[in-house]
Amino acid sequence: VGELSAAAEPEDVEVDASLRPRNLTEFIGQPRVREQLELVLQGAQGRGTPPDHILLSGPPGLGKTSLALIVAEELGAAVRLTSGPALERAGDLAAMLSNLAPGDVLFIDEIHRIARPAEEMLYLAMEDFRVDVVVGKGPGATSIPLDIAPFTLVGATTRSGALTGPLRDRFGFTAHMEFYEPHELERVLRRAAVILGVDLHPDGAEEIAGRSRGTPRIANRLLRRVRDFAEVRADGRVTRAVARDALAVYDVDELGLDRLDRAVLGALVRSFGGGPVGVSTLAVAVGEEPGTVEEVCEPYLVRAGMLARTPRGRVATASAWAHLGLTAPPDVLP
Ligand code: ADP
Repeated sequence: VGELSAAAEPEDVEVDASLRPRNLTEFIGQPRVREQLELVLQGAQGRGTPPDHILLSGPPGLGKTSLALIVAEELGAAVRLTSGPALERAGDLAAMLSNLAPGDVLFIDEIHRIARPAEEMLYLAMEDFRVDVVVGKGPGATSIPLDIAPFTLVGATTRSGALTGPLRDRFGFTAHMEFYEPHELERVLRRAAVILGVDLHPDGAEEIAGRSRGTPRIANRLLRRVRDFAEVRADGRVTRAVARDALAVYDVDELGLDRLDRAVLGALVRSFGGGPVGVSTLAVAVGEEPGTVEEVCEPYLVRAGMLARTPRGRVATASAWAHLGLTAPPDVLP
């Protein structure tokens, strides 16, 4: 995945933590999700019970982890963090579950990648606050039911469609995160500039916001790159002109498409005549995992009107051809 993609890179991990909104008021954008979540949390607090399990779904970098931490913060609860791929052995999950205190929040990132035995253990834990611990091996093995503390599971996924039905059904509330509007990303940038001590001008913020792929993580990362440029090649102030010149150095185009986005569009148009082509074929053509193309890259290309998903495969729109500086065939989708 390219340097400017939405997935977290090592450098982001620390900076993300310092820029993370700490409560729902600091959380910018996503008005629907915020309102729905507020109701879920306040309703549960009024009744004095842990809220229903919460599933956060959407592309990377839109604030799922931040929201999970906010849920715990708003509830005044402790949070334990893990991820689907880390729960390969059901025993690891059993240990985490039995260590929870009443009301704790358990955050499982990439929950669609959880291994089957752990997933099955989760059903009972989510529904009845119980785990079955298997003791011994072979024919003599017995399973001992163990009560665990009532808790709230917050799961995050870039692919809610990949969740099994039984797992999805056990979440009482699913929040669908949307890409951010440019004016919301400007607020994200202004907030980050204050925290990082960057001299960000309003027109500089506008320029960066428009090229951030609707994603706060990318907005914050572009701000850091533009700051480097402003300090090294200019007087440190991030104006529109400085932002433009800096982003040109990093190959971020006017739409904010990154290397992988452009590779996918380029392959679709040049190798497959604009499609339709299956996502796996497309992924092979750009040397990426189909999952990455589907979850990281495509959602924004669809949202930007560059790519359409049809029953016969992916199709480049007229805007995609135009964006690549090519003339579209006459029968292409607008
Ligand atoms: P995800 O878990 O969906 O990949 P994160 O919660 O890790 O995304 O968000 C990445 C970073 O983007 C956060 O650390 C924060 O700096 C920024 N961010 C995300 N959402 C918001 C928001 N609503 N308001 C302000 N900053 C945000």
